[in-house]
Amino acid sequence: MNILVLGGGGREHALAWAIKQNPKCDRLIVAPGNAGIAAIAECAELDILDGGAVVDFAEQNAIDFVVIGPEAPLAAGVADRLAEAGILAFGPSAAAARLEASKAFTKEICDAAGAPTAAWARFDDAEAARAHIRTTGAPIVVKADGLAAGKGVIVAMDEATALGAIDDMFSGEFGAAGAEVVIEEFMTGEEASFFLLCDGETVLPIGTAQDHKRAFDGDEGPNTGGMGAYSPAPVLSDAIAEQALAEIVRPTIREMARRGTPYKGVLYAGLMIENGRARLVEYNVRFGDPECQVLMMRLGAQVLDLLLACAEGRLSELRVDWADDHALTVVMAAEGYPGPYAKGSIITGLDALPQDSAHMVFHAGTALDNGRLVAAGGRVLNVTARGATLAEARSRAYDMIAQIDWPGGFCRSDIGWRAL
Ligand code: AMP
Repeated sequence: MNILVLGGGGREHALAWAIKQNPKCDRLIVAPGNAGIAAIAECAELDILDGGAVVDFAEQNAIDFVVIGPEAPLAAGVADRLAEAGILAFGPSAAAARLEASKAFTKEICDAAGAPTAAWARFDDAEAARAHIRTTGAPIVVKADGLAAGKGVIVAMDEATALGAIDDMFSGEFGAAGAEVVIEEFMTGEEASFFLLCDGETVLPIGTAQDHKRAFDGDEGPNTGGMGAYSPAPVLSDAIAEQALAEIVRPTIREMARRGTPYKGVLYAGLMIENGRARLVEYNVRFGDPECQVLMMRLGAQVLDLLLACAEGRLSELRVDWADDHALTVVMAAEGYPGPYAKGSIITGLDALPQDSAHMVFHAGTALDNGRLVAAGGRVLNVTARGATLAEARSRAYDMIAQIDWPGGFCRSDIGWRAL
């Protein structure tokens, strides 16, 4: 098969790495890709938000299967354009991608499906939103309705912060994403991520993970796209996973089908777990980054068979071949991230590292400059390892990091602490 992966982060490097190992994969193209992906696949320039351009490219390159990595092309309808052109693709339609693109839509679906989640209200008027906050009090959570690159959620521990968030959102700080806000009950508990493949009808769990959103050790500092992750998530026991499936995920999938917008793709359920029960925090309609890296490490070559069965509506025929092991990834980021950071600092030491089924460095923001590897983004490398235990996976990952020479970068030293 000729396969096209859309995206260019650590998530897409991990997807490409797993897909490449499957003998069904003949030719692999990633658009736009990055320096690490270029070592295992062809990288192509392509506007991945332009469905017409993606269809043309797929036709010109005799692509049999397109895997859409990030949420933006999904929300832009790239999966719809591919379906219209008769090209097999992995990823939900724009209508189904609203499960991530609109927080109010997700809450409506939860209510219709009876799925446990935080109490909520929606506002398109700042004064009404302020009045609601004054009545309800803090802690309280204020969310821009639309996609805001992970920055549209303010967990306000006091009323003034919540009111300030309303001012910011209605003053246009989040663009169109903030034209409507959702205000939610603050939930306590431990968060974990549950990943499921859905083909419109059948739901197949493919793993659990936990990530670290804060920039610095001890879960301190500003929020980031994610500084590390591990799989499985010990807090998501089999019993809680079963409850989340029965009460949250399956009812959601049924409700989406009932509305004529069946959900096909990976569903990433962010759960809040307390007293042995899960409630939904949010859905994402793509793999998490960096959670994808640990899932791909554990699943390996079967990923292509799973994604194909998902896209073709054959998930009920498949079983996941579970490895009874652990994976952990540490994000190395450019100094300054998530604030302003420099690009172009030189990274060395990767060539000497083992790259096998237990050790991988997935690239996120990297580029080649005259043959030298340089940082080209905020999050730059995902140093990922597997082990029989989480402790073993973690020590392998940090052993690799010790051999990487990158004065312009930093990473957390405590990824996995909660589970260890
Ligand atoms: P989201 O973009 O919806 O995942 O929100 C980002 C983060 O905000 C989540 O991972 C949670 O840590 C936190 N969060 C979102 N909603 C709530 C809530 N209702 N209660 C407590 N924390 C929340």
